[in-house]
Amino acid sequence: MRVEMKKEFEEKSIATAIKTLKEELPSNVKLVAVSKFHPAEAVMEAYSAGQRIFGESRPQELAAKAAVLPGDIVWHFIGHLQTNKLKMVLPVSSMVESVDSLHLLEAIEKWAGDNGKTVCVLLEMHIASEATKQGFSREEILDIASKAGDYPHIRICGLMGMATFTDNEEIIRKDFAKLVTLRDEIRAGIENYPGLPADFGILSFGMTHDYRVAVEMGADIVRIGTLIFGERSY
Ligand SMILES: *Cc1c(COP(=O)(O)O)cnc(C)c1O
Repeated sequence: MRVEMKKEFEEKSIATAIKTLKEELPSNVKLVAVSKFHPAEAVMEAYSAGQRIFGESRPQELAAKAAVLPGDIVWHFIGHLQTNKLKMVLPVSSMVESVDSLHLLEAIEKWAGDNGKTVCVLLEMHIASEATKQGFSREEILDIASKAGDYPHIRICGLMGMATFTDNEEIIRKDFAKLVTLRDEIRAGIENYPGLPADFGILSFGMTHDYRVAVEMGADIVRIGTLIFGERSY
């Protein structure tokens, strides 16, 4: 699947990749263009092609780009976030998609309360088979959902996840299904989670190599980097 996709998008400009993706994605699916490790000029190229939502995974990089790029860009933070970096990220982000610990949730609540803001977050669920990936278990998410009222300055809008890094579509589907099932379960019993927003249930899943499967399975947000901006040099 990955090989096929590369050929298809090879040699295309950032603008063309954005256009092609916009045509392909259903209108109800939001595209987060993951610009991490790519320069501000690359973001501008995508911006000029009409893209407005961008994803970044490192606080300094996000803050630096947000300072020089157009103010109508909507930034999603998608990386592991240390609590001492919150003040770089939260003032410029519309959403933190990658809340992966209670400690972080509590720190965001404190920052938001102190600054008179409400922060929109997704809880990251550990759905991959790699133990190295971040995220909560199903039980932990249900527990947080039931205590969402403890975080009055946070809107827990939904769930995010990253599937196992594999070309085996069956495994990817199984991973993604964990997010869909848990979201549906919470929605079905939403009266048990009075602290959650009534429209709880945004699902963010799908990246360059698995976004088509994600769209098919009902992702509301896909986060795509390589397909748009090319390979990253770490
Ligand atoms: C880097 C990253 C992406 C984008 O990955 P690509 O394979 O380049 O599309 C999506 N989500 C998260 C959380 C990431 O860190």
